[in-house]
Amino acid sequence: MAKFADLHVHTYFSDSTLSPEEVVENALKKELSAIAISDHDSVDGIDPAMAAANGRGLEIISSVELTVEREDAEIHMLGYFIDYKDQRFADKLREIRQFRVERMRRMVEKLKNEGVDIPIERVFEIAGRGSVGRPHLAGAMAEIGAVRNLREAFDRYIGYGGTCYVEKKKITSKEAVEMIVDSGGVPVLAHPKLMGNDACIKGLIEDGIAALEVYHPDHKPSDIKRYERIAKENGLLVTGGSDCHGLSKPRILMGSVRVPYDIVEKLKEKARLIRRR
Ligand code: AMP
Ligand code: FE
Ligand code: FE
Ligand code: ZN
Repeated sequence: MAKFADLHVHTYFSDSTLSPEEVVENALKKELSAIAISDHDSVDGIDPAMAAANGRGLEIISSVELTVEREDAEIHMLGYFIDYKDQRFADKLREIRQFRVERMRRMVEKLKNEGVDIPIERVFEIAGRGSVGRPHLAGAMAEIGAVRNLREAFDRYIGYGGTCYVEKKKITSKEAVEMIVDSGGVPVLAHPKLMGNDACIKGLIEDGIAALEVYHPDHKPSDIKRYERIAKENGLLVTGGSDCHGLSKPRILMGSVRVPYDIVEKLKEKARLIRRR
């Protein structure tokens, strides 16, 4: 039987509504052979997912999703097969997450100045143990009826560059790549469409990304064609995943985008090369 992998899945350790255990149950239901636990700035979901999947024919790939914010674009970078127990890596992530807390305070303050009064405790409550982010804030805004839904929260206030948007900790794309490579992982550009500008890809290739996440729910067939071509022209691997956020997206997307397991093998080979350097 053909094997498939979903290489982009969140848990409640970032902005999904699902626990690692629920993620594993969903992946088994979808008959996936492998999933990558790719939380924003956190690796805390990996061990629990591995424990839940143990002996059940589902491979858990360690991963993380870092954000790079620049004047011209918001860039998400995935790291596959990272050594998530590496202390230096963990320390850096903790620093980045701590910055998210401060940033949330500032966003709440900006919203207050615009007449939207959100108790910050509620935002932290919604985030739970996860690294706190805009989807949690948007949830709190929707709860009190300040917006009709998450989408409106992003469109009117907290979307990238919006009036109440505050940046996360500054890291450059080169730093993101180095952070991943230093912990033995393979750096991959997540959903390139988000950047809104394909011209950015060239610089990221120079920084050392190994693949493009070509297959993603936000990519139309024409996008997929274009990114496949860019990957081919530049000797990059192609990856893909559902970017499943549980029920916050608003349905469980797991497995809706999946790739042949062969791609996992190719990523493993890349990881071996990176570790040998
Ligand atoms: P943060 O890491 O706090 O900046 O939040 C980024 C996350 O917010 C993304 O990973 C998505 O899950 C979500 N997000 C970003 N833009 C939008 C949008 N326009 N509508 C809904 N969710 C969004
Ligand atoms: Fe997210
Ligand atoms: Fe992302
Ligand atoms: Zn994601």
